[in-house]
Amino acid sequence: MSAGPALITGITGQDGAYLARFLLEKGYSVYGVIARRGTDTLWRLRELKVLDHIDIIDADLHDLASLIRALEKTRATEVYNLAAQSFVNTSWDQPLLTAEVTALGALRLLEAVRIVNPHARFCQASTSEMFGKAQQPVQDEETPFYPRSPYGVSKLFAHWTTVNHRESFHLHASSGILFNHESPLRGIEFVTRKVTDAVARIHLGQKKELRLGNIDAQRDWGFAGDYVEAMWAMLQQPEPDNYVIATGRTTSVRDMCRIAFGYVGLRYEDYVVIDPRFYRPAEVEVLVGNPAKAKLRLGWTPKTSLESLIQMMVEADLRRVKAE
Ligand code: NDP
Ligand code: GDP
Repeated sequence: MSAGPALITGITGQDGAYLARFLLEKGYSVYGVIARRGTDTLWRLRELKVLDHIDIIDADLHDLASLIRALEKTRATEVYNLAAQSFVNTSWDQPLLTAEVTALGALRLLEAVRIVNPHARFCQASTSEMFGKAQQPVQDEETPFYPRSPYGVSKLFAHWTTVNHRESFHLHASSGILFNHESPLRGIEFVTRKVTDAVARIHLGQKKELRLGNIDAQRDWGFAGDYVEAMWAMLQQPEPDNYVIATGRTTSVRDMCRIAFGYVGLRYEDYVVIDPRFYRPAEVEVLVGNPAKAKLRLGWTPKTSLESLIQMMVEADLRRVKAE
């Protein structure tokens, strides 16, 4: 496909910023859906220096009419649905809001595509949280789902809705089953960024301890910049499909801490305090994905090791803290 207009929901989030930069480099006109907020949410787009090169569209996943107008106005031929209430912890406190945005929001956007331009190609940002209490030691596209949070349940609805619109209405709608991916632009509430920010503050004498929950949980962590390339590659295929996007390596939060503290010459054991406030009502203990299909069909492989990713994140947080 040639690079046409692309519409990204969730452009102010971590992946939105990386995807916007990637598509701009490929020559796309990039339109970003921005939901009205009382505070400034554009810092990631500024940090990647893409804000001046994208067109902003006011719309909200709650509001079907705004999504229809966004598609009419942009004439987007590729639509990336990255918007969500994406934090697992918050989903227990706000399950209805999470379902409205993360589940029904995806359906609204798919309906808007179906109404305005059923030939547009659509990518849904699905998640390994759908595997939850994993039914197989290594998860692939055929592994049964068992979500463990309102977020996981909502994403599962969005995933099956994507598949259903593909099968019912022949939309070119693909689902990327994305395992955790991080970067210096990751939200501070997620564990990797919480750790790298704390490492920077402890190293610079601003903080004395880091309070965490279950540090024995294991995740398959990759770099967000690599994962957005897979999203794009899915939409270049002749047929839509589901793809697991993962590294195939899993690491505990504990070992992630060891690497991050080790980067500045510290021992995590001297600073990490276990605080049951951060335990979850239901935990996803271990996730590890098999990205073989993405490699075979999309030619996609992760390029960034966990060590390089953590180094990148610690260095960025050291720079930020010094600049405060
Ligand atoms: P973020 O939480 O950083 O970004 C979420 C985005 O959704 C923000 O731009 C936010 O806008 C936007 N948003 C929230 N509510 C609405 C709404 N009602 N209408 C329009 N936009 C809204 O997520 P990531 O970038 O990390 O992830 C991108 C997508 O990939 C998400 O759907 C996430 O669930 C999914 N995913 C992410 C994984 C990861 O490890 N990062 C793993 C698997 C899936 P605002 O800034 O204004 O709040
Ligand atoms: P998630 O996989 O989308 O839930 O990503 P998170 O980064 O929020 O959490 C990853 C894992 O880290 C989960 O198993 C959490 O229980 C665990 N974890 C342990 N301590 C913390 C903490 O203080 N904050 C967060 N966010 N997660 C923590």
